[in-house]
Amino acid sequence: MWHGDFHTHTTFSDGISSMERMVHAAISAGLSSVGFTDHSYTPFDTRYCMPEDRIPEYLAEIRRLRDAYRGRIEIYAGLEWDGGTDLPQRDSFDYLIGDCHYVPTPAGPRSVDHEKQEQKDAIDRFFGGDAVAYSAAYYDGYLAKTRLHRPDVLGHFDLPVKFGFVDEDSPKYRKAALTALLACLEITPFLEINTGAVARGLRDRPYPADFLLKEALAHGARPVLCSDAHRPEHLGFGFREAEQRLASVGFHTLWGLCAGRWQEFPITGK
Ligand SMILES: [Zn+2]
Ligand SMILES: [Zn+2]
Repeated sequence: MWHGDFHTHTTFSDGISSMERMVHAAISAGLSSVGFTDHSYTPFDTRYCMPEDRIPEYLAEIRRLRDAYRGRIEIYAGLEWDGGTDLPQRDSFDYLIGDCHYVPTPAGPRSVDHEKQEQKDAIDRFFGGDAVAYSAAYYDGYLAKTRLHRPDVLGHFDLPVKFGFVDEDSPKYRKAALTALLACLEITPFLEINTGAVARGLRDRPYPADFLLKEALAHGARPVLCSDAHRPEHLGFGFREAEQRLASVGFHTLWGLCAGRWQEFPITGK
């Protein structure tokens, strides 16, 4: 049975473990493929990203481990590419997850997911306390950056709901999220199912929400399971439940890198 995890972090950015320790944990977790996706360099916020000048070292370590563990696990070179930043080395990676961690404001980009209070302050100060308007600005930015960069995978799509300030049943919210998602799916069909916030006890379901998944299914989305693990024990976290959720929405398959190309695998819930 094939299992892959395509969104993971190491000490090259804000993960707590070395890449090699993550490889050991991935093998122990029964993964067939693992992709490393440390954070791209964001010059306006250096709290958690990988400095640009470390990219050659990052890619070299992936190549070393790929050779050392060949036959035991497949290892891919990815990057969590934050929208709005340059990436001259993009052809050096096997794939890029397009993500957006910021909402544009008159005072510059404000982090969506770093801290609860930081998100609350941005909603209050720049959006008059309206979390739906805040989210709509986020989705506009997400779409613009997806159009600009054309990443391979759409990462943690509905991130603004992370801290619970957004009414996800609001028609205005749903329209903003859906409009952006469907436009993004025209650029790439690969949609990350991200269990990271569940692993960290912040959410009770992966990104994105079911109402988005249902429309994504109708528009040909290809789901990719990702843990967004920042520590070894979170590799493959919640994948069985995520598969069951996908199946309940109507998906029969998921996608992952295997033998160097994106392939489709049946959902088994195992
Ligand atoms: Zn992220
Ligand atoms: Zn991540």
